[in-house]
Amino acid sequence: MKKILTLLITLTVLTVNAQSTLSENKQEIINSVEKHQSKLIEISDEIWANAEIAFQETSSSKILSDYAEANGFTVEKGVAGIPTAFVATYGSGSPVISVLGEFDALPGISQKAQPTKEAYEEGAGGHGCGHNLFGTASLGAAIAIKELMEQGKISGTIKFIGTPAEEKFFGKLWMIDAGVWDGVDVNMSWHPAAEIKADTQSSLALVDFIVEFYGQAAHASADPWNGRSASDALELYTTGINYYREHVRPTVRMHYHIQDGGQVVNVVPDYSKLWVRVRNTDREGMMPVYEQVMKMAEGAAIMANVDYKISLVSGLHELLVNRKGAEILQKNLELLGAIEYTDEEIAFGKKIQEVTGKEQVGMDSEIKPLEETREHPGGGSTDVGDVSWNVANINLGVTTAPKDTPWHSWAVVACGGMSIGHKGLIYSSKAMGMTMLDLFENPDLVEEVKAEYKERKGDYEYKAMIPDGPPPIDND
Ligand SMILES: [Zn+2]
Repeated sequence: MKKILTLLITLTVLTVNAQSTLSENKQEIINSVEKHQSKLIEISDEIWANAEIAFQETSSSKILSDYAEANGFTVEKGVAGIPTAFVATYGSGSPVISVLGEFDALPGISQKAQPTKEAYEEGAGGHGCGHNLFGTASLGAAIAIKELMEQGKISGTIKFIGTPAEEKFFGKLWMIDAGVWDGVDVNMSWHPAAEIKADTQSSLALVDFIVEFYGQAAHASADPWNGRSASDALELYTTGINYYREHVRPTVRMHYHIQDGGQVVNVVPDYSKLWVRVRNTDREGMMPVYEQVMKMAEGAAIMANVDYKISLVSGLHELLVNRKGAEILQKNLELLGAIEYTDEEIAFGKKIQEVTGKEQVGMDSEIKPLEETREHPGGGSTDVGDVSWNVANINLGVTTAPKDTPWHSWAVVACGGMSIGHKGLIYSSKAMGMTMLDLFENPDLVEEVKAEYKERKGDYEYKAMIPDGPPPIDND
């Protein structure tokens, strides 16, 4: 009896502790997101179905900014000379906290919201990175903060920043250049993922550039001696890159995409074009590899006796981690706990795993302990990295697809258009809203997050790696 009594008392204490950590204001954040839930899901699904690619996200940008406006935000559209970029602001004074939202799709991976591969619209784009969820969840978090401001429970400025073209061109670079994050104390971001995580890892630096070769056309059989082949140069160039692979650090990645290799077999091609990308752990380590790969274009041009041209598209910095920010976020993830899934959702996830040849383990939404920051993060790159060199940045990952799902693929598109994705969206809105609330309520936390940012950045003078002139809105 005594044992049972002790157990009962212990349980009561545990329950009280768990509840007492979810403050009234945090509960308000959760309530706000739930109040807007059906509308947020509707917005996300509309962006998912439209699947607009880089710099063409006209309707997606409008849906998000319209809902921000309808909720009392002042919206500035077309910022940084990008028609689909916008900043929605509410409140005044400090702290100034921003949350950014992406909404662009990837070309050619249209997919229905089902666990087997079938296009929603043949040849169209698809949200293979879950950016329909990304932009919408960030909007939900910003609205939750705004509603607390409206009630006079917190004060300061909240900005929801609509950032186009993350998949290509990296729209944030021009937005940074235009000073969009000037005066912001802390920026909040998240990304759809296959697990829930307060992000403590960096991302890779990269550079994108176009190489074009210009030769002389001729009949491929009748007078080939009159021709100088741009596609010979292209082949020699990619061969050079592939030999070079053996002599770079294991952290280096080099990719190319042949965009034009000539049109027909009976003409010596006078034009060829490649999109080349070089990555490494950080920008400093990437630059010498970039320079060498550029030099090789000249070598290929000499061998094929053609002319060449190199044009910078843009380049990304690695992400500056903020562990203090991640700690604040982690506490909120622990408060929210894991996402719960229905049997149908788990079956959907397992079917995706079956079709993509993965172990059928279903979903992973357990809250894990904060990770150590690795020296070499691996993985991909993001223009949030560049934002993180201009303002202290907190990053979240939330499950929106089953474990081991191939990213940038039809499988991610499928999950983003149904309840697995929706649950991740709503969860992310709550987690980001609660974390931003901590910052609004505790000026000391803002200072600690900013202090870590300043220390990590050091005296590095950031400059966006973009070509002169306006953003490449009309390029494809
Ligand atoms: Zn993405």
